[in-house]
Amino acid sequence: MADPSGFLKHNRKDAPKRPVADRLSDWHEVYLDQEPAERDQQVRTQASRCMDCGIPFCHSGSAGCPLGNLIPEWNDLVRVGDWASASDRLHATNNFPEFTGRLCPAPCEAACVLSISQDSGGPVAIKRVEQAIADASWERDLVWARQSTVSSGKRVAVVGSGPAGLAAAQQLTRAGHEVTVYERDDRLGGLLRYGIPEFKMEKKVLDRRLAQLRSEGTRFVTGCEVGGDKPGDLSVETLRARYDAVVLAVGALRGRDAPDLPGRSLNGVHFAMDHLVAANKECEGDGPTSISAEGKHVLIIGGGDTAADCYGTATRQGALSVTQLDQYPQPPAVRDEEISPWPVWPWILRNYPVHEEAGERRFAVAVEEFVGDDAVDSVRLREVVVRKDPSTGRREVTPVGDHVEEVPAQLVLLAIGFEGVEHMPLLSGLNLALTPRGTISCGPDWQTPTEGVFVCGDAHRGASLVVWAIAEGRSVANAVDAYLTGASDLPAPVHPT
Ligand code: SF4
Repeated sequence: MADPSGFLKHNRKDAPKRPVADRLSDWHEVYLDQEPAERDQQVRTQASRCMDCGIPFCHSGSAGCPLGNLIPEWNDLVRVGDWASASDRLHATNNFPEFTGRLCPAPCEAACVLSISQDSGGPVAIKRVEQAIADASWERDLVWARQSTVSSGKRVAVVGSGPAGLAAAQQLTRAGHEVTVYERDDRLGGLLRYGIPEFKMEKKVLDRRLAQLRSEGTRFVTGCEVGGDKPGDLSVETLRARYDAVVLAVGALRGRDAPDLPGRSLNGVHFAMDHLVAANKECEGDGPTSISAEGKHVLIIGGGDTAADCYGTATRQGALSVTQLDQYPQPPAVRDEEISPWPVWPWILRNYPVHEEAGERRFAVAVEEFVGDDAVDSVRLREVVVRKDPSTGRREVTPVGDHVEEVPAQLVLLAIGFEGVEHMPLLSGLNLALTPRGTISCGPDWQTPTEGVFVCGDAHRGASLVVWAIAEGRSVANAVDAYLTGASDLPAPVHPT
């Protein structure tokens, strides 16, 4: 039984971070790698704040965790120090809790009843508890290869090795199918490898999970674009002939551009993701990055996760200055729910550690022009106000006053969102067209209009959270398993939108 008054005895305490000077001198994770005994004791106290509500909103898919994580159950198991059972219950709903514990902005915490009242001391630190259980599971040898004891004789290709593809692949392999994951990049992991900086999740965390998948029997092919025509690529015809089902988990990495802004074509103006990929490749040992912030004034346009990732990356690369621009007003005090793209509570949780390290954030400003000869050297800014047009529901950005400010910038990073799936030959090869949102549509069984071809993750949903990618990967596995065998016992935590 949970302690119903635990939250009255203990305040919420987030995981301790490393000193800023240490963080800026290397690429290791921001959060302190605590001694297990110390971490476990602190996390047990945090878990004891959960009162095990009768109706736990934290684990409901509509408001809280899309995976349906059994949060009150594992909170109580941690409270009493039963880490093995907590690991079992956590892995029952989440293939990769060490990813979500590090990367998810925790909608579960926004949904926790203790987030409603200021007097409660804040929501249960669910994300911290989740990461501690996941890390303790690896330390205590509670994670092992769960090889299937049955074989269906069916073959499945998963295209894309990000979190959705990996979750689908692991579920289907464990169900007895022969699964091969195709990755066009030289290394596995998709966004987890080349989109997420080391300081948020070190690659060794990804690699040990990939080793588990390999031990379970999932096969991987890297440097292979399905539908491409380079040596080593796989044609769509071979894909269809070789596999009984195909899962598309190709992400939604087409960056939103600002093509009409004067000076957009100047050297030094890049998509945010290009910056992150190049930096991650350098961290992998591939030589100096092609887009370095070292010795430059850096301007990042955008207010979300990707912008923050660029911010921390540029700081660590030795930028002269880093400034992040957001056209919306500064939350939470003056943030207008009507115009804000972000819910307020998760935004508070997204008070990214990188912003306390260095640099500057500016709100209610927008770029008017990139200035330079061949390469960008400065940027002209205007104050703006964002309003919602009541007739169309669209947000409109309007300049305020006549003042134009020019700030130095030799590197500009566009982190203004994603427009959907990249245009790739695979799509036409499979007779698939993108929706107006740039995603791949599917029926209620996750199957695209092309027979035997399924879709999940950002490719279906649009750019979203890692927890949604895993939830969709698990759900598409259920659908593919049912398609191949007539029925499935695999869990399906979410349904297509
Ligand atoms: Fe515990 Fe909060 Fe979930 Fe209630 S909503 S079960 S207090 S974590």
